Amino acid sequence: MDGELVPWEQAKVHVTVNALHYGTAVFEGIRGYSQNEEIYVFRLRDHLKRLVESAKIVMFNNPYTVEQLQDAVIKTIRANGYRSNVYIRPIIYAGENIMSLNARELPIRASIIVFPLEKFFDKTGLRVCVSSWRRLPDTSMPPRAKAAANYLNSILASTEAKMMGYDEALLLDHQGYVSEGAGENLFLVKNEVLATPPISSSILEGITRDTVIKIASDQGFRVVERQISRTELYTADELFFSGTAAEITPIVEVDGRRIGDGAAGPVTSKLSKLYHNIVRGLEPRYKEWLTPVYGSK
Ligand code: PMP
Repeated sequence: MDGELVPWEQAKVHVTVNALHYGTAVFEGIRGYSQNEEIYVFRLRDHLKRLVESAKIVMFNNPYTVEQLQDAVIKTIRANGYRSNVYIRPIIYAGENIMSLNARELPIRASIIVFPLEKFFDKTGLRVCVSSWRRLPDTSMPPRAKAAANYLNSILASTEAKMMGYDEALLLDHQGYVSEGAGENLFLVKNEVLATPPISSSILEGITRDTVIKIASDQGFRVVERQISRTELYTADELFFSGTAAEITPIVEVDGRRIGDGAAGPVTSKLSKLYHNIVRGLEPRYKEWLTPVYGSK
């Protein structure tokens, strides 16, 4: 917390932090994967770059550089001695001051939280619905920033979906095109071509999305970023979510329509297996994406 290692029970903030009242925080979700007593953090630098960019969008006086944050993440995992799969949650937030709505005058604080995490979705294929909530538009809130306040949009959508018995929500953008899940990007496969909504469809520019685009292209698949209509979902051969927490998770049903034959399709399975190996350091070609926690210094 703010540069100090603090025991879990003492890692507390005051009720007057601005972030609690107005959602003035930007954060990241990063995974570290265990392999042979080592932990590999996946695309650490890219996540921290996005964190610093999120802080820039919301005009925080952020004193932290990517390099400082990178050292702090490694130090925090080491201090805990973890050797299992972990989730890493750095957060930069506006501190004590409940009366100001001017980001420039708010004190900026930072914390890095690490805890063990295995699977996020406990199902092999998800049943999703198109949400009655639209993904927030860039003209009102910046979906490009991974900002805490944005997640009220995700929480409304995800809660509604789960209350109706679905596993997750899929949100449309303000033009009515497919945007993304509550906390995941979306890919559609049709005739072996992958499509994913463009940045202009109010998505968070996911790092897993970028990973999928690269590894699918390397496998010889055509990948296009383009607007996707709702009804294209219903006739897709395969659909899957991508995300740090979600990894690559097949979607087997949308709004009561079965996708493909109702199980993970061949393209999704292939990419999912490859991703599983890449993050664990088993694919030498993608090693530059990994930061080893214990072997790095
Ligand atoms: N969209 C939203 C709204 C998210 O919260 C996430 C998770 N960070 C993603 C997409 C996927 O992003 P990434 O692959 O970088 O985890």
